[in-house]
Amino acid sequence: MPMIIKTTKSLCPVCGKVLPADIIEEDGAIWIVRNCPEHGTQKYLYWSDAEMFKQFEEFEGIGGGVENPQRFADESECPYACGLCNNHKSSTLLGNIDLTNRCNLDCEFCFANARACGYIYEPSFEEIIDMLKMLRNERPVPCPAIQFSGGEPTLRDDLVEIVQAAHDLEFSQIQLATNGIKLAASKDLVCGLRDAGLSTVYLHFDGTTKETNRLINISKRVVANCREFGVGIMLVPTIINGVNDHDVGNIIKYAADNVDTIRGVNFQPVAFTGAMSADQIAQKRVTIPDLLQRIEEQTDGILKKKYFYPVPCVLPLTHLAEAYTGEPQVAFTVHQHCGAATYGFVTEKGMKPINELVDVDAFFAAVDEMSERLSKGGTINKYKTLIEGVRDINRSVKNKNELNTSLWKILKDTLIKQDFESLAEFHWNALFVGTMHFMDNFNYDVQRVQRCCIHYATPDGRIIPFCTYNSGPVFREQVWKKYSKPMDHQEEIANLD
Ligand code: SF4
Ligand code: SF4
Repeated sequence: MPMIIKTTKSLCPVCGKVLPADIIEEDGAIWIVRNCPEHGTQKYLYWSDAEMFKQFEEFEGIGGGVENPQRFADESECPYACGLCNNHKSSTLLGNIDLTNRCNLDCEFCFANARACGYIYEPSFEEIIDMLKMLRNERPVPCPAIQFSGGEPTLRDDLVEIVQAAHDLEFSQIQLATNGIKLAASKDLVCGLRDAGLSTVYLHFDGTTKETNRLINISKRVVANCREFGVGIMLVPTIINGVNDHDVGNIIKYAADNVDTIRGVNFQPVAFTGAMSADQIAQKRVTIPDLLQRIEEQTDGILKKKYFYPVPCVLPLTHLAEAYTGEPQVAFTVHQHCGAATYGFVTEKGMKPINELVDVDAFFAAVDEMSERLSKGGTINKYKTLIEGVRDINRSVKNKNELNTSLWKILKDTLIKQDFESLAEFHWNALFVGTMHFMDNFNYDVQRVQRCCIHYATPDGRIIPFCTYNSGPVFREQVWKKYSKPMDHQEEIANLD
């Protein structure tokens, strides 16, 4: 019997109308159901594992939005009222800027590149600076991280200057989303980007073989070039059921084999754009629990499904930092069903999941306890409270021998000495394995997008959540068209060998 778990709002996938929606449990899975007066009842898979859905629900942490919203709107206007409005519940953790829609590839599924659009979208250097400043002006917490995307952002001749400008504006993380073709071909570009302040390359990487990843040879050259210049890489595979879902274990293994350069893998289950039949969607859909199941099976049970936690699980660390500093801090208040992550330690004996080294629940409980004591104790007892807190955290460590030289030292340095640089060291020992499932109009949940922390800055002075920019209202199309220029030439398609 179907059972309503909660209610939300969704969109009609045919006409885009905002509709009341039920999130229901049926046959062990979670579905989102709504009824459009014109296009009838629409029911689509939301999560394939009802039990895990409920466990993740426990981590809900709703943020307070920003102090300086860009507009005031009625809640009923959501998700059609962006830039960031008074109803949005999270600040920007990661800002995105599309630098161009030009691309040196011709992927069939891409409706966004200049070739498919028939026009060029490419903001000027000055417009990009204005967008970066707008993100840094967010209050109370300025946006800390920026990702440059496209199209293919490396096609811009002024990319190094743009990265330098982001660095000068004190973004602490500067990321580049790329197919890697230009980085594979030019060590000078990798070196220049590193010198300008690039932190991490977000490399499209859909698999480990020619069948799953036609760019595999290029990807390997990018890894070699980034290794030479000490630039970190995050692999970004889009996972499609029946296409590359059998390769997720190999992708993690490839990342672990190159852990000196590859910081992690951020899997993105496919989100569908355009019209599709329910059968086509059912055939290709991968939800977060499906992906985690594949990871468990294909890593021989090393990274178990139950080891993954939803993004807001790290909120206790925000509360601790706020209690310690007395200032608002970056808060991961993204919706609990948007993403999940874990860490694996790569050792000589193979990968060790962090959950086998630390009792993660006890760790966060100890952090919670520490922030509560800090908030009550004022500033005088701060240091004493931290020492006691770290002792409590020590109880959550299961295997102290393995942790003595790595994670444990980093925790102590971070929490007691407030040496946040040591967190960077963490990445050299550990591999991040995470996933974010961007929404499409079939599984759209307005509550999720209202808590989105990944936002685009646009030249019309708006900050727009990822899942209204690329799906739902698809503000990207409006912005790109408004700022479009005629196409003066066809971009050359790169040779992939
Ligand atoms: S998605 Fe956020 S910014 Fe956009 S209309 Fe809804 S609450 Fe406002
Ligand atoms: S981009 Fe989409 S999936 Fe990711 S946090 Fe925002 S709303 Fe959630």
